[in-house]
Amino acid sequence: MPTLRTPPSGQPPRPRGPAAPGSRPSGLTWYLLAGLLVLAAGQAWFMKPPGRAVTYSEFKRYLRADQVAEVIVGPESLQGTLKQAEAGTTAFTTARIEDPKLVDELDARCVKYTGEVTNRWLTDALGWVFPVLLLVGFWSFFLKRMSGGPEGGVMSFARSKAKLFAEDDVTISFADVAGVDEAEQELREIVEFLRTPGKYTSLGGKIPKGVLLVGPPGTGKTLLARAVAGEAKVPFFSLSGSEFVEMFVGVGAARVRDLFTQAEAKAPCIIFIDELDALGRTRVQNPMGSHEEREQTLNQLLAEMDGFDARKAIIIMAATNRPEVLDPALLRPGRFDRQVLVDKPDIKGREAVLRIHTRGVVLAPEVDIAVVAARTAGFAGADLANLVNEAALLAARGNKTAVDQRDFDEAADRLIAGLEKKRVMSPREREIVAYHEAGHALVATLVPSLDPVHKISIVQRGFGALGYTMQLPLEDRYLLQRGDLINQLAVLLGGRTAEELALGDISTGAQNDLQRATDMARSMVTEWGMSDAVGAISYSDRRQSPFLEAGPGSDRGPYAEETARLIDGEVKRLMTQAHEQARVLLMTHRDALERVTRRLLVIEVMEGAELRALLAESVPPSHA
Ligand code: ADP
Ligand code: MG
Ligand code: ZN
Repeated sequence: MPTLRTPPSGQPPRPRGPAAPGSRPSGLTWYLLAGLLVLAAGQAWFMKPPGRAVTYSEFKRYLRADQVAEVIVGPESLQGTLKQAEAGTTAFTTARIEDPKLVDELDARCVKYTGEVTNRWLTDALGWVFPVLLLVGFWSFFLKRMSGGPEGGVMSFARSKAKLFAEDDVTISFADVAGVDEAEQELREIVEFLRTPGKYTSLGGKIPKGVLLVGPPGTGKTLLARAVAGEAKVPFFSLSGSEFVEMFVGVGAARVRDLFTQAEAKAPCIIFIDELDALGRTRVQNPMGSHEEREQTLNQLLAEMDGFDARKAIIIMAATNRPEVLDPALLRPGRFDRQVLVDKPDIKGREAVLRIHTRGVVLAPEVDIAVVAARTAGFAGADLANLVNEAALLAARGNKTAVDQRDFDEAADRLIAGLEKKRVMSPREREIVAYHEAGHALVATLVPSLDPVHKISIVQRGFGALGYTMQLPLEDRYLLQRGDLINQLAVLLGGRTAEELALGDISTGAQNDLQRATDMARSMVTEWGMSDAVGAISYSDRRQSPFLEAGPGSDRGPYAEETARLIDGEVKRLMTQAHEQARVLLMTHRDALERVTRRLLVIEVMEGAELRALLAESVPPSHA
């Protein structure tokens, strides 16, 4: 499916922190620099040797000439005064040299001498305090830098990434969600809890703790959770399960702890954990221990859910499209004990969703949203949002002033069968495809009680889809009867049968049809008990997600070799029957097949009405 949508709104722009990398040095650095200068100046002033610097030999000369009046002997230098001023001063300084006889000499010349009572604190201080200060300074400066920004930098990875959506930030309400009425109904109750928690707790009732939204991808689970926060006007903490499971061991658990601490301070509020399955998969005994981090996080989550005060109005919501992989501990009472199914919308729901998403779109007056809704069976809310966007883009590309029905049709075609491909088919290939699709379409029209054909196309789309026949269900179906399924088998085989009849050969284009037909026939036999020979027994051992497509490969259930042979025989019988049914129908309407194919080769895309007209013209007398 093409994804030309803009990213979903709702993530508020992240403000940059004041000390984000790249900004100017913080005040601390300036203080440090100033301090450094003052200290250096002080040292220079205090340490400046008073008086003229002389060499030690010079000093000795003065001493021997009896010119020295006084000497202060320091550990490293000698300071003294001369009896007569020389070079304008009597003071002098000289570096001290190891000279054991100095004292004797001083005594002999009757020079006043004394040891230096040094006040060296400043030097000492400068010696070690300063580097320490410098270190501390840089340390705190970098700490600040690294943890700068609301995202939390390197140093704050343990802190929760939960962003607090302030009350007015959540502007989503139930009016923005459609087609999931049952879920909405259940969640309205939660909104009520959050709005007036006292009303329920005063009677001794406990507010539900956890609500799990379960449903296929794109059905609006995230949207619903935000709508609950918007309706209840409470803060909304949202985190994705995968965000918990990253980086280092222990970080996830710390995040969970932090999230709950933050939330408790803000009650009433909602904590929303999206994609819970990333975090809450069944814990397994793993010899490699590679899932320890996730399990630790999950355990912490369970502990927090049990631990927090039930009287505080905190609702923990979570969403998943794979409920079957969740750890059973998550679903126990007191945890996510409420489960809300968010399913794909039915035809009315699709219409409502389309109306929501076309609110800001300029529509041509002839656009019929109900028709678009009818064409898009199986679309989830997100697909419908995508469809509207795609149609708007198409209209813009065509420089139209409004989005018209054709744009919607084309957008739907694209979403259903993949983008139009540029590669051209050879005339021979086109003919094969035309016969093939005409075969599908005719069988679909000729068998009773099936969805009427909406459109046939031999315009190549995406990989693998060389053409398609689209049937438009008159209503959403939740149950299919055996007769319907057998007819559907015939329709699936109709393409291949038409190739056989008209061209005397078959192509690889029918491979997908065959696979689908075989899968369906096998399910009829092994899952739905629709084969009399096998009986009403389910031999299926498939445990699959109810929402995701079944993976490839058919896993056979635990049954005997003999049963396997019986099943294979029944599948084969169903397929042969369907093939025969398609063959008879197409033989009877051989001329219609020809007409439809010729017409298709000209116009490439045929509407259902034209197909039925062509068929009506050529009903042979034998049919009556
Ligand atoms: P999920 O979380 O179930 O995968 P999202 O809530 O993320 O689906 O849906 C993605 C987008 O699709 C939404 O932002 C919204 O625009 C649209 N959408 C999905 N479901 C609905 C719905 N029921 N009503 C209106 N819009 C929907
Ligand atoms: Mg989601
Ligand atoms: Zn086909």
